[in-house]
Amino acid sequence: MTTLLFSHDQCLDHVTPPGHPERVERLEAIGRALAKPEFDALDRRAAPMGEEKHVRLAHPLAHLDRIRTSEPVEGYAQIDADTSMAPGSFNAAMRAIGGNIAAVDAVLSGEARNAFVMTRPPGHHAEKAKPMGFCLFANVAIAALHAIEHHGLDRVAVLDFDVHHGNGTQDVLWNESGVRFASSHQMPLYPGTGAPNETGAYDQIRNAALDSGSGSQLMREAWGEHILPWIEAYQPQLILVSAGFDAHAADPLAGLNWRTEDYAWVTDRIVDVAEKVCEGRVVSSLEGGYDLDALAQGTAAHVKTLMERGA
Ligand SMILES: [Zn+2]
Repeated sequence: MTTLLFSHDQCLDHVTPPGHPERVERLEAIGRALAKPEFDALDRRAAPMGEEKHVRLAHPLAHLDRIRTSEPVEGYAQIDADTSMAPGSFNAAMRAIGGNIAAVDAVLSGEARNAFVMTRPPGHHAEKAKPMGFCLFANVAIAALHAIEHHGLDRVAVLDFDVHHGNGTQDVLWNESGVRFASSHQMPLYPGTGAPNETGAYDQIRNAALDSGSGSQLMREAWGEHILPWIEAYQPQLILVSAGFDAHAADPLAGLNWRTEDYAWVTDRIVDVAEKVCEGRVVSSLEGGYDLDALAQGTAAHVKTLMERGA
């Protein structure tokens, strides 16, 4: 078995205004990194379209209709202070959902132990009824709810190491007793949520707030000594990852000073837990990361670790 890689060219149609950090070039940079021979063994699959029923797991119909009808015929439509749509953005967003759904289906059916979903727009800032922070739909929260509703799982873990708090994931999963959600993030920073006292309706949420400049050691303490033992104790049947690479020292939007090797480390520790409790089942999905080199290298380290551990 090998690692599955879900992507789709339509994710390149989600064009953002000039100078916007969440840009087409991000996927192109990752694509170049994953085209190297060491990634030949990846099982590459086209991300299918997500469906209305998938969106409705996390969002009211009015939210879906708003996104669908906001897509412009040409140019850009601004739908939030820093979120816009272009012709093709809706299909890109549906590929991101569909990629996550297909990855969960494939991993739960035993086709592979783990998968990486290389799509955009990202999802972890999209709340139930509010697109924001470059995100239209809560891709990973949708995948978690799909695992529960469609596959009948009782315990799913969602881990978010993007430098920004996954406020959208938290919003969607706040009243969900069957999912433990844990996030590490820089604080204070956009979007302003993610304080340690935000623990969900069932004490099923953990937020690790990290100081600007805190670096590798504090990150490894947060994950190794707090988040992952708490997840392991839950014995999840599937682990989903919101994989953002914007905590890297080179990222222009934040300042946590993580290094490329930290992404290999945290991935390794996540797989350690997955092997102990759920036969190694991990589905990881691209969120942020805005320095193209750091993004490509961080993603490559992450995917390479998934491949080495998923074989
Ligand atoms: Zn981010």
